[in-house]
Amino acid sequence: MAFTVAILGRPNVGKSTLFNRLVGRRLALVDDTPGLTRDRRIGDARWGDQEFTLIDTAGLEDTSDDSLEGRMQRQTQRAVDDADIVLLLIDARAGLTPLDHHFADRLRRLSKPVVLVANKCEGRGGTAGLLDAYALGLGEPIGVSAAHGDGVTDLLQELGAFAATAGQGGVDIAVTTESAAEAAEDAEALPSSEGRPIRLAIVGRPNVGKSTLINALIGEERLLTGPEPGVTRDAVDVDWVYRDRAFRLVDTAGLRRKARISDRLERL
Ligand code: GDP
Ligand code: MG
Repeated sequence: MAFTVAILGRPNVGKSTLFNRLVGRRLALVDDTPGLTRDRRIGDARWGDQEFTLIDTAGLEDTSDDSLEGRMQRQTQRAVDDADIVLLLIDARAGLTPLDHHFADRLRRLSKPVVLVANKCEGRGGTAGLLDAYALGLGEPIGVSAAHGDGVTDLLQELGAFAATAGQGGVDIAVTTESAAEAAEDAEALPSSEGRPIRLAIVGRPNVGKSTLINALIGEERLLTGPEPGVTRDAVDVDWVYRDRAFRLVDTAGLRRKARISDRLERL
């Protein structure tokens, strides 16, 4: 079964470059003049046995009497109607813009799986933008460089896992909140009678109280807390049952902008 993936995002984030990279042929035109892609292009990509139909979207920048908002809504709606999965692409070098937030807000309210992709992540220039992308509320961003190829295998793998899940009877909305590969793994690892725990990651900058919050939720001092930033060195999983529902709480070592991370241990 071919699986349709639409690439959505504001002008110039690299949609056509990613499309070309995934399709492996220069079907879409790429240019640094916003608005070059006048119409949508369709191409085929594959990952292992899985075939994808890719849609490169455009049209936000077309001259028209219509408001930007209206055009964006139409573009989003069309992509969502036609696709099994929507890739929302942002430019990690430029950082988030109001348009990125608009797209994210709209997509979050629709029940289509969304994979958030931060492009232009080659080298170090994209790190801050990649971390900022969490603020869109669409789960973990996948950092890629469409121009150089970094991260594209991870992206294809994620899409492959989505396609496999869908083939086995529907993608459920929980899949969008974690990596699909992880979700598929979890689903296999657990006995079916138990159900999959809801994986809840606690994310925030150092010292906001992530570990303390988890301790409060589970009612015991399971995690080390303290006023020094960086007490939590690793992502720690805590299993927790609340009202007969299994949760897996994931405490994360805080996210700091790369420029401020001097310690090699913390970076790891
Ligand atoms: P679209 O409007 O979203 O389709 O964006 P394009 O694919 O036309 O790319 C817009 C500009 O971003 C072009 O100048 C590309 O060369 C550049 N670009 C695309 N991908 C990358 C990337 O991974 N890294 C960098 N540094 N530039 C990129
Ligand atoms: Mg384009």
